[in-house]
Amino acid sequence: MKPALIVHGDAWEIEEESHVERVAGVRAAAEAGWALLTAGGSALDAVERAVALMEDNPVLNAGVGSALNREGEIELDAIIMDGRTLALGAVAAVRGITNPVKLARLIMEDAVHSLLVGEGARRFAELKGMRLCAQAELTVSREVERFRRLQERASYHPTGQLSPDPMDTVGAVALDSAGNVAAATSTGGVHFKMPGRVGDSPLVGSGAYADNLAGAAATTGHGESIMRVVLAKTATDAAERGMSAQEAAEYAIRVLHERTGGFGGIIVVDPHGRVGYAYNTPQMAIAWVGEDGSIHAEIAQQAAGKDV
Ligand code: ASP
Repeated sequence: MKPALIVHGDAWEIEEESHVERVAGVRAAAEAGWALLTAGGSALDAVERAVALMEDNPVLNAGVGSALNREGEIELDAIIMDGRTLALGAVAAVRGITNPVKLARLIMEDAVHSLLVGEGARRFAELKGMRLCAQAELTVSREVERFRRLQERASYHPTGQLSPDPMDTVGAVALDSAGNVAAATSTGGVHFKMPGRVGDSPLVGSGAYADNLAGAAATTGHGESIMRVVLAKTATDAAERGMSAQEAAEYAIRVLHERTGGFGGIIVVDPHGRVGYAYNTPQMAIAWVGEDGSIHAEIAQQAAGKDV
């Protein structure tokens, strides 16, 4: 089977000054995932590699460069899911880890539990020999400045309305040559969130879903809206009913918009290896592999996805 891959590095109103670096970031992630897939690697390894690279990229709100919560702390969420077995691993509100997606993978492979949060997740990371880090290693000046600015607005809460403070998440979905699909998502969550707040990203079916019979999807956007419509599963269910990846992505975003009024974006791969994306935010940072194996990366504009 011909492999397929699509990744995203946020859908929102993306700060102009980050466009070039962001496009480079999603391109590098797609290249890394694609190199694995074309060498016969698994979809699971490809999405983990792509998302881990975006976590390492300080421009993106995942891993290094994550948003600070209202107490100035960084709490990270991630999920990875294997479409072959429906196995999944997820972490939520974990501190002091540079690559939450790798921790999610370790949880998945351990196979005892599927979702670990907070201190328990951190202890599991330590048990598995992952390197723990100080918050300073995850913190970038852009987010400290944003935090200070939001702190001055004492009553500020992230509402999910479009604002100059973009919400971010990174994600990847892939199909490998064995016909297996996988999805992964990682985020620092919304800016100035309450401590302990968990969005859609690490929640199975909301932030990501993967099932060989239906395809795989990963989402970004306002978590409190996305989880109400279980957005990723809404898309893969639609693909299972026969929609192409692009149709399923557009359908899911329509459901999000019509049922909750919320904003977000989604990437989808269907079991035939077609990829698609859609968003109702002004922009979405996206990279996918075309029919000829070349990588397309861009900040997509406008309110509807397009055929890819
Ligand atoms: N979905 C993430 C959250 O709500 C943020 C985002 O994707 O923009 O935590």
